[in-house]
Amino acid sequence: MNNKHFKQLIAPRLLEMEQYSTSAYQHSIKLDAMEMPDNLSELTGAEILNALVELKLNRYPDPNFLSLKKRLLKKKGFESPNIDVVIGNGSDELIQLLCLLMANDGKGKLLIPSPTFSVYKILGTIHGLQILEHDLDKDTFALDTSKFIQRIEADEPSLIFIASPNNPTGNQLVKLDIEDICRACKGLVVLDEAYYEFTDSSKLKLIESFDNLLIMQTMSKTGFAGIRLGMLFGNRYAISLINKLRLPYNVNTVSQAAGIEILSCKQALSDRIDAVIQERRYLTSQLSTFVGIKVYPSEANFILVDFGNYSADLIFSRLLRAGILVKNVSSQHQLLNGCLRITVGSKEENRKLIETLAKIIL
Ligand code: PMP
Repeated sequence: MNNKHFKQLIAPRLLEMEQYSTSAYQHSIKLDAMEMPDNLSELTGAEILNALVELKLNRYPDPNFLSLKKRLLKKKGFESPNIDVVIGNGSDELIQLLCLLMANDGKGKLLIPSPTFSVYKILGTIHGLQILEHDLDKDTFALDTSKFIQRIEADEPSLIFIASPNNPTGNQLVKLDIEDICRACKGLVVLDEAYYEFTDSSKLKLIESFDNLLIMQTMSKTGFAGIRLGMLFGNRYAISLINKLRLPYNVNTVSQAAGIEILSCKQALSDRIDAVIQERRYLTSQLSTFVGIKVYPSEANFILVDFGNYSADLIFSRLLRAGILVKNVSSQHQLLNGCLRITVGSKEENRKLIETLAKIIL
């Protein structure tokens, strides 16, 4: 289907778009997608099968994920009827719904710091929002809040996404200044806390003070990327609008049940997060010993590394040849030129990475 008439029926911005790239490389060590290195489960196949039978998979899922929602709100300490949460098939689905909500028949404007998580721009473009990018500091990737607020006042965006800690830079973009951003913005401000567990600095409670602030979290980064559970917390009215737009049964029964179990296994999760933070320290200090490389401080479960005069493409392919897959973000944005993003792996994986890099570079 490549004929001219067919293409004329499709919006040009969609024809021009690149598909979101996911890696299809051969590898034995996977450090490209911010997943946890190990799997929590020790269940046998038969136990899993029995558990699935109990879930009555012949029936549709609870369309409003009530049990999971109740437990989530309780765990996060929300008792007020003014606060609600909607669950998505990963945060990706929630980002899509937010873009859909704010597209406003082509009049919507999306403001994002840049570089950031590429999906914001992709989904904003798909839904016809005007994309406004605000460059982060070229040396530190910090967000200059007062300039950002000037931009908000000048451009009046209907939607802002801020990931903090930010992907792929690893730093926190906002701390208390999120309050000033919410005051300045007439539209929705979405704070994406996908990595907050690795820095322990959630701003979740602020949704009780700001009606236009929504906070997004995910189960993906702490060991459960496969079940696709993202959460968007905020005032009841905004969440009710998202509920109108989402597909019925968007969260399957198995994921709802898994989510409920995960919420109750607190200690096992925080031990694994602590282990990742410890390994992040190890990787940061080891990578910093290589001359000519810039290691950006990270508050997430990955590290951005600028390979300077070494070619990032070359380092990427040499690592891959050794079976190690990292993310090459070098061509994503001019400020990322020369950079690779490395997910913190297991103890063994991280040591193998450092050993291999030493052979490539020295
Ligand atoms: N937000 C950020 C900042 C991310 O980096 C990612 C995943 N790379 C997501 C959201 C998507 O998370 P999920 O797996 O919940 O769709």
